[in-house]
Amino acid sequence: MTQSATANRETMGFQTEVKQLLQLMIHSLYSNREIFLRELVSNASDACDKLRFEALHNDALFENDSDLKIRVAYDAEAKTLTIADNGIGMSRDEVINNLGTIAKSGTREFFSKLSGDQQKDASLIGQFGVGFYSAFIVADKVTVRSRRAGESVAQGVVWESDGGGEFTIEMTEQAARGTSITLHLRDDQGDLLNGHKLRSIIHKYSDHIVQPIVMKKEEWKDGAQVITAEDETVNQASALWARAKNDISEDEYKAFYKHVGHDYEDPLAWSHARVEGRQEYTQLLYIPARAPFDLWDHNARHGIKLYVRRVFIMDDAEQLLPPYLRFVRGIVDSSDLPLNVSREILQESKDIEAIRKGCTGKVLGLLADMAENDKDKFATFWEQFGRVLKEGTGQDFANQEKIAALLRFASTHSDSEEQNVSLADYVARMKEGQDKIYYITAETFNAAKNSPHLEVFRKKGIEVLLLTDRVDEWVVGSVTEFSGKSLVSVAKGGLDLGSLEDEAEKQEQEKQASDHQELIAKIKTSLAERVKSVRVTHRLTDSPACLVADDNDMNANMARMLKAAGQKVPTSLPILEINATHPVVVRLNTEQKHFDDWAAVLFEQALLAEGGQLDDPAGFVKRVNHLMLNMGAA
Ligand code: ADP
Repeated sequence: MTQSATANRETMGFQTEVKQLLQLMIHSLYSNREIFLRELVSNASDACDKLRFEALHNDALFENDSDLKIRVAYDAEAKTLTIADNGIGMSRDEVINNLGTIAKSGTREFFSKLSGDQQKDASLIGQFGVGFYSAFIVADKVTVRSRRAGESVAQGVVWESDGGGEFTIEMTEQAARGTSITLHLRDDQGDLLNGHKLRSIIHKYSDHIVQPIVMKKEEWKDGAQVITAEDETVNQASALWARAKNDISEDEYKAFYKHVGHDYEDPLAWSHARVEGRQEYTQLLYIPARAPFDLWDHNARHGIKLYVRRVFIMDDAEQLLPPYLRFVRGIVDSSDLPLNVSREILQESKDIEAIRKGCTGKVLGLLADMAENDKDKFATFWEQFGRVLKEGTGQDFANQEKIAALLRFASTHSDSEEQNVSLADYVARMKEGQDKIYYITAETFNAAKNSPHLEVFRKKGIEVLLLTDRVDEWVVGSVTEFSGKSLVSVAKGGLDLGSLEDEAEKQEQEKQASDHQELIAKIKTSLAERVKSVRVTHRLTDSPACLVADDNDMNANMARMLKAAGQKVPTSLPILEINATHPVVVRLNTEQKHFDDWAAVLFEQALLAEGGQLDDPAGFVKRVNHLMLNMGAA
């Protein structure tokens, strides 16, 4: 931040990201300009919540005025609109930090994703949260006056900016605690200087705000509207979640979501319930329609808002839901917890455990219902949050079955990359005599789909799940069976197809194995340290060879992932399986001079085919060239 000071008034530069955000916001959200009021009222409401919470421990912060409210006023002559609150307020440093920088983690990455395409960027900005800076959609100058609750009158701060690269900051006397934000409206925004218009925007977006939003009453006198001295409350001003379900409209639920979820789009679904029993609480939980930009950022705070008897306690109470449900937004309002509950207490509290269990059950129930009754919605959910939900299979053993039922995978049934096959779908399509759920894990969809390991399954028309998300290795590590059928990797162990193979096939295999004993021994000797063993395959139809992991060894994809993550992996050698009827293998059987090269290439191409990396790629190229030149010269 650059600084230049004159007496008490200082000019400072915005953080680069703020400048970018301001530019984008003004241009891309223009058609949605009314949201600025929602954002500023939402901030004012949060500021009142924070004051009420801090005042629990320090009543003096109320400065004898605990009647928290938000005031919206306009001045048609001066062309200004003011949103004021008597909430917590900000100190000078807080003003500079909060209104001059973006503190969110992942901000830089977020900005690098913006494309310059206004429509796309507008929805990205929505996910990022527009907040205070949305004021500049309608204003060409914004003046913020603030004083932190409990500070002396001399600690007032004035912040001002025209939304260019800089803002000014100045200390003044300010009697009223809290924050007032004055928007000097752009010339074409005159229609906002109208009581009726403002009231309708407040109804639309901010009705659910807990504090009263007051405006001066307006009356008609001699054919003109005059503003009286009397205040009136414009919104409902009651905690939405405390109202009866059938008194709340869909639009009210959606508007409330935008406030608590800091989102710009409608939610996908929600669950609102009052829970009675050992713990009494109300929960209103939402599934967003789109993943936030920081879903994978481990420093980002995730969680829902905790209230105790309507008093706001904290944001991001991550103990109220397990990490794999970190995309859920909403509130829990407890009737039993003490008001002075802290994060530390939350971590150990048995009561919180009961609430977490309850909330987890509600969310999983909501998802199961969506999966059953609204497949399109569930597909949207899965696309956005499926990979997060998959983490639950290893985190939440108590709910593993329920989570497993929600999982969706790509499969050879359609060979489409879209993950839309459930384990139940798979089981319903199983072949007669099939008693296992087969899957393959690979780094990419194409590697999975084209893997030689699938050849026999394709030939027999047996469906195989294609797992290509990193987290899938953990999924199949935790979910070992579904509906009594075990999940089995096609790239591991002896592959017992049981009654899916007939007697003739089995006899043929045994014959192949005994006919090729000598060749197998020779390859084993040639490849020495590179393979655990060599055997005749019954997995392949078109490829000459493939690698498989032994039953109790780690599979190759998992080992590669762990290595890439810098972890030590126990070295276990693969088993080379050869397709005895393949011309290359038939040819190898007669090879004398270049046997070692042939065996090495057979091994190396099997490794490449499953997405592995060669230890010595140059050696491989040399061997292939050598063989090409000696083609036919056995
Ligand atoms: P967000 O609300 O998503 O954090 P904003 O840009 O809207 O982002 O606001 C940035 C910060 O400025 C808020 O987190 C809050 O600390 C502070 N702030 C904004 N408006 C007010 C207000 N009316 N009273 C007190 N603090 C405020």
